[in-house]
This record gives sequence, C-alpha cells and structure tokens, in this order.
Amino acid sequence: MTQSGDDLAYRRVLVKVSGEALMGDEPFGLHWPTVAAIARDLVEARATGAQVAVVVGGGNILRGARVAGDGLDRATADHMGMLATAMNALALEKAIEAAGSPARTLCAVPMPTICESYARQPALKHLSRERIVVLAGGTGNPYFTTDTGAVLRAAELGCDAVMKATNVDGVYTADPKKDPNAKRYDRLTHDEALAKDLKVMDAAAFALAREARLPIIVFSIREPGAIASAIRGEGRATVVAP
Ligand code: UDP
Repeated sequence: MTQSGDDLAYRRVLVKVSGEALMGDEPFGLHWPTVAAIARDLVEARATGAQVAVVVGGGNILRGARVAGDGLDRATADHMGMLATAMNALALEKAIEAAGSPARTLCAVPMPTICESYARQPALKHLSRERIVVLAGGTGNPYFTTDTGAVLRAAELGCDAVMKATNVDGVYTADPKKDPNAKRYDRLTHDEALAKDLKVMDAAAFALAREARLPIIVFSIREPGAIASAIRGEGRATVVAP
C-alpha cells in the first residue's frame, strides 16, 4: 500500500544503482535474485509515498574507459557502455513490475522500438503517476559516467536527494576493505568531502551535486530495506549535504 509520504525526509529521490550492484557475487552480468531483491527494495521505497527515479550503471557488463584502446576509440567504447546500461535498465524494469509496481524505462540514447526516449516532461509525468522511472544511457554522452547522469537527472527532475546505493554503508576516511582503522562519517558537507579528498562520486558528478546543492545519501544496497530507510532519514548511511 502506498503511504501519504508526509513523514519523509525526501519526497522525490533519484536512486543510483551501479551495474556492479546487479551482479551480486557473480564476476559479470546480472544475478537475477539480486536484481529481484533490489527491485523489491525500490518498490518498498515507492510505497513510502516518495516518488522514485533510478539511474542504472553498466559496469557489470562494460566500462568504456576500460575497453578503449587497441583500435577501439573511447567515444565508441562509451557508446557500448551506454548500451550496457540500457540492458540493465530493461532487466530492472521487468523485475520492478514483477515486484508489484508499474515502471518505465526512459533512455538518453533513443531506441524507440525498445523503450521511451528520455525527456524531462514525460519523466515527471510518470513520476506523478506513481511509476518508478528507470533511466538508462547515463547522460547520453561519451566521457561521462552514470554517477554524473544520476546527479544531472536529480537536479533537472527536482529531486530532493541522490541516493547512492553501494556495497558499503557510507563514506569512510579510507577504504574499509583495506584499512581496519577506517572511520565512517555520519554527515559531511560537500566542501568537507572535497577538502578531505573523499571519493563520494567521480569528480564531475560531485562538482554538479555541490553546484546544485543536492544532498547525496550513501548507503549499502546489501541491507534489505535500505532505500526506504534512507528516504525516511533513518538507517545506516552517510549524508553529504550543504
Ligand atoms: N557512459 C557514458 N556516458 C554516460 C554514462 C555512462 O559514456 O553518461 C558509459 C561509460 O562507458 C561507462 C559505462 O557507460 O563506463 C557504464 O556506466 P558506469 O561506468 O557509470 O556504470 P557503473 O559504474 O555505475 O556500473
């Protein structure tokens, strides 16, 4: 059941789901039980009463910067990366529908026989009609990442926050997998994250978030219900906010 949303910290959110989050513990591609679990979390997030848009990455299939070279130019490699995000988006759309919510994929790279092309007004219309909007193709341009796509769409769609779902439960002083003394931040400003050189997102994405004064909530997607908790302003997360 969809709730009224009156008690939420954020009423319209952009959730960034990396391609890697969709592969679970597999080395490549999609792990269906993991895709289904993330879809259930997104449906639960929508049921809080918040409007939910999702930007999907493609790193579980292909990253342009990694495969460029040896005769494959970067722009073409990035086009391939954007196609990878579209594959993930279609999988996530179907998993969201199977979990009980209407969903629409909108792609920044037009492919009209497969899904709608991204445009701001239709995206806003779908959100207002309680559909989960899955955004594919990043920014639609090479040399960018889906992190930048996430912040860009969050800004233009008037989202209250970017929810960055990762494999760790926040931003740390150092990589917690490598440094046992690494400490987690509960709260940071954009300026503090920059001054401490903390890698919250890639530089272009982070600069845009700072400029647009968009909060970034970093939390672990491996924790069931984490997206809904973050929307309520609860749960274990780092909040980067002005
Ligand atoms: N990509 C791009 N422009 C964009 C977004 C993505 O060219 O605006 C390409 C780029 O090659 C990137 C790939 O798509 O490596 C997959 O996106 P990303 O690496 O951001 O995925 P994630 O790390 O979130 O899985």
